[in-house]
Amino acid sequence: MTDQTRFQLNESDLPKFWYNIYADSPVAPTPVLHPGTMEPVTPDFLSVLFPMDLIMQEISTERYIEIPEEVREIYKLYRPTPLLRARRLEKALGTPAHIYYKYEGVSPSGSHKPNTAIPQAFYNKIAGTKALTTETGAGQWGASLAFACNVFGLDLEIYMVKVSYQQKPYRRHMMETYGATVYASPTDRTNYGRSVLATTPNNLGSLGIAISEAVEVAATSNGAKKYSLGSVLNHVLMHQTVIGEEALKQMDMANEYPDVVIGCVGGGSNFAGIAYPFLRENLKNGKRARLVAVEPTATPSLTKGQYTFDYGDTAKMAPIVKMHTLGHDFMPAGIHAGGLRYHGMAPSVSALVDAGLIDAVAVRQKATFEAAVQFAKAEGIIPAPESSHAIRAAIDEALDAKAKGEKRVILFNLSGHGNFDMVAYENYLSGKLEDFDYPEEAIKESMSKLPQVSIPA
Ligand SMILES: *Cc1c(COP(=O)(O)O)cnc(C)c1O
Repeated sequence: MTDQTRFQLNESDLPKFWYNIYADSPVAPTPVLHPGTMEPVTPDFLSVLFPMDLIMQEISTERYIEIPEEVREIYKLYRPTPLLRARRLEKALGTPAHIYYKYEGVSPSGSHKPNTAIPQAFYNKIAGTKALTTETGAGQWGASLAFACNVFGLDLEIYMVKVSYQQKPYRRHMMETYGATVYASPTDRTNYGRSVLATTPNNLGSLGIAISEAVEVAATSNGAKKYSLGSVLNHVLMHQTVIGEEALKQMDMANEYPDVVIGCVGGGSNFAGIAYPFLRENLKNGKRARLVAVEPTATPSLTKGQYTFDYGDTAKMAPIVKMHTLGHDFMPAGIHAGGLRYHGMAPSVSALVDAGLIDAVAVRQKATFEAAVQFAKAEGIIPAPESSHAIRAAIDEALDAKAKGEKRVILFNLSGHGNFDMVAYENYLSGKLEDFDYPEEAIKESMSKLPQVSIPA
């Protein structure tokens, strides 16, 4: 069939293994340091927060890790996800390029995040954990983990950034529907939250504060509660590789191979999910797909940040890792792509950008929404503001191919739908959105506060 639009795998094609980039990456993993001693952390330190199976995955260099049957059973509720050829968008752009997108918005929470929430809940369940704690900003991660904890019968405490708790109630109600308990952070339930409220009683919260609260609750629970993170960590990126493994098979069904693979980056998990299996093909099987990570100009960690050791959170309680960072005291502008407002980046994505194996670009907010609306009109799906960064870059590739008269095959990950993000669209459509470039001076200022580690950066 030459005019096929949708490439659909069978349940039996669901991947049986996650792929670990560290087996093939030419850049070795960098050490993870304790935020207090600044010495490499031990599995013992991590075991306060995570079950041993996930710690072993975090430090593993095995190429493939088997996906447990219990996890695959739950994946089957929405996987394999479809790959579509954006024929109507191609026509609207008048481009000779072929544009494909992998659609992760078909999951119960509407994004790629359940791909890691499900195994994280599973490994905690079999380790005897009673409850998980986590933070959430706009709520995509909280909703995904709430779904997964409910499936495996775990309690879940979510520390939700207060401003989002008040302004974005719908995902909160999703979390509550799945049975999670949601607190507006900063709360008076933790030492850190109380200290924040003592100095700033009207504090509307931040992701950094919420992380610190969720970590404190798990760390002081005598092992009953563990902490769960939705991006950045190696095991999270690895769980997301089901996206790229399926996409490889689906591109095969389409009888094409991508010249360029594109994903948006916040902490780097959905990008790694689609890109790392294609990077394996570059490194081992002579393929030459360009891999492009797309970030907002308001949070330009890969394109303007420094590649160095920094704390994972604002309160300096999370481990120190080597990554592209804008500084742990980074204060994000109020852009609508809430899922992309992190000061750092997954260490493996950072290392591979530094080594020149992954390209990074930054795009502005208004141009991003313009791409989102163009995509919605052509393809029907209203994309998440985060995912729209990947769409912007994909459209730019298609227009470049048109200008050069090239047939180019473009694949991007549509990490989620935007059905709960209508306020952002309302702001765009009424002309209220503004562009924001994070200032160089602010980055320089933050770089003076990096941890002084003895390992050479
Ligand atoms: C959370 C989120 C992101 C950003 O997180 P990554 O770890 O960089 O993938 C991107 N898209 C959507 C839809 C999200 O919910």
